[in-house]
Amino acid sequence: MDFSFTDDQRMIMDYGTRLATRYDRKYWMRHAEQHSFPRELWQQLADDGFIGITVPEEYGGGGAGMIEEMLLTEAMSNQGIPMLQLVVGSTMSLTHLATHGTEEQKRHYLPDACAGRKLFCFAITEADAGTNSIKIKTLAKPEGNGNFRLNGSKTFITAVDSSDYAIVVARTTPFDDVERKTDGFTLFILDLAKPGIEKRRIEVSVPVPESQWQLFFDDVPLGPEDVIGEVGDGFRILFDLLNPERIVVAAQCVGLGRYALDRAVEYANERSVFDRPIGAHQGVQHPLAAAKTEIEMAALMTHKAAWCFDNGEPAGEASNMAKYFGAEASIRAVDAAIQCFGGNAFTKDYGIFDIYPYVRLMRTAPVNREVLLSYIGEKVMGLPRSY
Ligand SMILES: Cc1cc2nc3c(=O)[nH]c(=O)nc-3n(C[C@H](O)[C@H](O)[C@H](O)COP(=O)(O)OP(=O)(O)OC[C@H]3O[C@@H](n4cnc5c(N)ncnc54)[C@H](O)[C@@H]3O)c2cc1C
Repeated sequence: MDFSFTDDQRMIMDYGTRLATRYDRKYWMRHAEQHSFPRELWQQLADDGFIGITVPEEYGGGGAGMIEEMLLTEAMSNQGIPMLQLVVGSTMSLTHLATHGTEEQKRHYLPDACAGRKLFCFAITEADAGTNSIKIKTLAKPEGNGNFRLNGSKTFITAVDSSDYAIVVARTTPFDDVERKTDGFTLFILDLAKPGIEKRRIEVSVPVPESQWQLFFDDVPLGPEDVIGEVGDGFRILFDLLNPERIVVAAQCVGLGRYALDRAVEYANERSVFDRPIGAHQGVQHPLAAAKTEIEMAALMTHKAAWCFDNGEPAGEASNMAKYFGAEASIRAVDAAIQCFGGNAFTKDYGIFDIYPYVRLMRTAPVNREVLLSYIGEKVMGLPRSY
């Protein structure tokens, strides 16, 4: 057993802390309120080599692993900066392209993306299918010459307006025509400037700089050069994304939980009612201490998941548990912090209540609590399949 970090890993944590101190929570919230993408922060991450942290160096990336990506995410979130773009861009899109893209695709897309010049988002969710991604209907119809026509729609796609490309999950064979329900999916790199794409903004009540969108496709042309991996085999390669996504989101939850608790401790030591700091009242202190314990337990499981992933060990169990418990622990931590701040929690000045919508979102998205529990019940514990 070894719980220590390498010098490089410590350097990444220090970097994440410094970056998120420079581009701090106030900066981030200003962008959230204006719905404007934090370009300076993104460019700084790019200039310092952290956007494609897991992308091999030959394509302009950092050549590091999931542990490093998790530590960067955790360190930034510890300061109140959970970047959705790092999840949908770096984790869901760039890592995926670096793993499954052709040599030509990697050379064409990755250096620009790692340098912050081009941004990616990731589009799988559809209104009618929801959690049941097998039932997505967006169809990239093969035209017989290696080309496709894309028709259908996506919903809740993060950062469409600030992105140049979307990784789109589509069916190339409709559900009714496949032998196995996971057959017939294909992943495409879609240039968002192509004709036939309509974008409609969805207003959400979560203060984040990255906005959410519906995408509508009307006969959008796609070529063989846009296909990631094999035509019809997209679901298999989609599985590679699941654990990294869960690990990065769990790291955000851990960090935001710590951020809220740190603010609460500062406040509980300063604010005095009934002639003593409120932190001296056990009714204030114990919920914070319990929440801190849960957050650090979530951190351990998240670190284990990243370690399993990087060391080629099965990572599903730890990743699903980390995402489940990270979200639950961070919800409880932020709630304890809100209670500690009394009325001030609800003021814009203190900004404590503003943390809650994000951690609460993480119980629902990118994968909901119930799907994680079903995975744990079925795959880890051997209970019958429920859906
Ligand atoms: C702010 C935000 C950003 C997002 N960004 C992206 C993005 O960038 N790209 C993208 O593709 N998608 C994105 N999503 C979509 C997100 O992944 C989905 O909202 C999520 O997967 C749930 O799908 P749904 O909303 O259709 O819920 P539904 O499928 O309608 O489910 C509703 C609820 O039913 C329950 N439920 C569903 N299935 C089961 C089951 N089998 N067993 C038990 N309970 C179940 C869950 O509690 C779930 O919350 C985003 C969503 C939000 C809100």
